[in-house]
Amino acid sequence: MRLVISLVASLVFGSAVGQSSQTMIFAHNDYGKPIPFFAAYHQQADFIEADVFLYNDKLVVAHTQSEISLDRTLDTLYLKPLQQQIQKNRGAAYPNSKPLSLMIDLKSEGVATLTKLVAELKTYPDLIKCKSLLITISGNVPEPATWKRFPEFIHFDGRPGIEYTPDQLKRIRLISTSFSKHSSWNGKGVLTAAERLEIERIVKEAHEKQRPIRFWGAPDFENAWIKLMEAGVDVINTDRVDALADLLRQIPQRSFTSQRKQAAYQPLYEVTKWTDAPRNVILMIGDGMGLSQLYSGYTANFGSLSIFNIRDIGFSITTASDSYITDSAAGATAMATGKKTNNRFIGVDSLGNPLISILETLKLSGAATAIISNGDVTDATPAAFYAHQRERSLSEAIALDFTASSSTILIGGGKAHFSNRSDRKDLLADLRRAGYAVGTDFDSIDSFTAKKFVLLDDSAVVSKLKGRGNFLSKSLEKTLSVFRKQPEDFFVLLEGAQIDWGGHNNDMGYVVTEVLDFDQAVATALRFADDDRETLVIVTADHETGGLSILDGDISAGSVYGNFSSNDHSAVMVPVFAYGPGAQHFRGIYHNTRIHDLIQECLSKSRKH
Ligand SMILES: [Zn+2]
Repeated sequence: MRLVISLVASLVFGSAVGQSSQTMIFAHNDYGKPIPFFAAYHQQADFIEADVFLYNDKLVVAHTQSEISLDRTLDTLYLKPLQQQIQKNRGAAYPNSKPLSLMIDLKSEGVATLTKLVAELKTYPDLIKCKSLLITISGNVPEPATWKRFPEFIHFDGRPGIEYTPDQLKRIRLISTSFSKHSSWNGKGVLTAAERLEIERIVKEAHEKQRPIRFWGAPDFENAWIKLMEAGVDVINTDRVDALADLLRQIPQRSFTSQRKQAAYQPLYEVTKWTDAPRNVILMIGDGMGLSQLYSGYTANFGSLSIFNIRDIGFSITTASDSYITDSAAGATAMATGKKTNNRFIGVDSLGNPLISILETLKLSGAATAIISNGDVTDATPAAFYAHQRERSLSEAIALDFTASSSTILIGGGKAHFSNRSDRKDLLADLRRAGYAVGTDFDSIDSFTAKKFVLLDDSAVVSKLKGRGNFLSKSLEKTLSVFRKQPEDFFVLLEGAQIDWGGHNNDMGYVVTEVLDFDQAVATALRFADDDRETLVIVTADHETGGLSILDGDISAGSVYGNFSSNDHSAVMVPVFAYGPGAQHFRGIYHNTRIHDLIQECLSKSRKH
């Protein structure tokens, strides 16, 4: 995982254009592509290769003599278009003055072909003068001893194992060798230790000469590219320039390395001290938190997660009424009410009829309730526990539903939907009149002494990467400290909203930092449950977001690398972790509606006592 570490380091220190600073693209056999030159040029390939024959005193571009066609000349396919671009860029090969090597692979006899090339290039003074264009010769390269006979604008492709003089080395642009000469690896999994050492030996030799290294004929797909980069290969030889360019652009977003380990909480499991059934429930929903998100967090946190210390585990099938793939509205409604509904529907059935949520039921029976989210409290997941709307985006109507249904404590973002409304109602004033302490500054949370309060502070719910503090765990701690002093049973719904946002953004660092923050809140809940012995903690998700797959990682380095197959939710089941009295009932595989039913069943057992 050195790749990931070095890439993250280069990001921290501000690498150029979001692309790996060290990896270069070699567009192999570019002349054979449907759009020679321009496709690779558009991707800003560092090397663009053309095979060239001297034929009838013309330089023609072809792979074998039999494929020669006289209208495919070096001149028309490469030199003229390059000249146009250089003129457009006011003398630079690329607009951003990144160097471009035009790799000319001499297929016919070296000296004669190169002599002809030099003569032809002299008719293109713009190319010769261009400092960021490096005309580089490979294939039938003339003897190094003869290089000084060719003008200085001609560079050469070197080979490992040759002792070049200092003057010859100056003419070498890169060092290349055949992959199969050094390894029989097929590109799947990892290189054997011996093969890796051999590749690293070649890399080291080139780097001692301060030249980049390329292997031609290496496996040409993502895993192989990544492993070669990790072995220090700077120039990736590819027939798939677009795919490699995309990957290099995406690597910074697809990888993450933690700077430090955060402590995980190890629950005590003093089961004999637990009550038979829970009196209190803390339901924690990591929005978009599938197994890959969790395992990314575990990997980046050096192999530790509070959530992974929970032993009662199930899986939740998340389908919606009208869709194989749920959104947060239908997913949360299922968990809140025990009924499947349509996507976008909040606390109503698929016909739009209001459903009673577990939070509302418990409130009616006298329990204290709390809703905590590090997104807007009117967003789909928290809303499904108190609102009844056929459209999740009706944030003002959802906020109004809160004042009717209300929960004892409400903490999150989304203040504007309460106090800056199109109907000019001031719901925060209404809530004050209804006996709530109302705050809009999260820093004031410790000063709340009221039993009922609403705290909406948008600046406190930015992403973890943008500086959110311990909002979730602090909100939960405060809530539990208020509830602990009261005789009533309680229900807490806590949402880690932004794991989902990281997934939608296809951003591994965003996902991981949000999972780890959520895990801190889980630690708070588990610690409370150990102390209290009457509280059931359930940790789950409404769905997975991003179709994340983990492609590499290093637990000892805290680094993880993956790929997102979608910018939306996926259909895969999500895990359910349960701790405390009743936790064993959450084992197995079931629909998300069952989470509601199980909570209700567990609580009703305690009520009978
Ligand atoms: Zn989402």
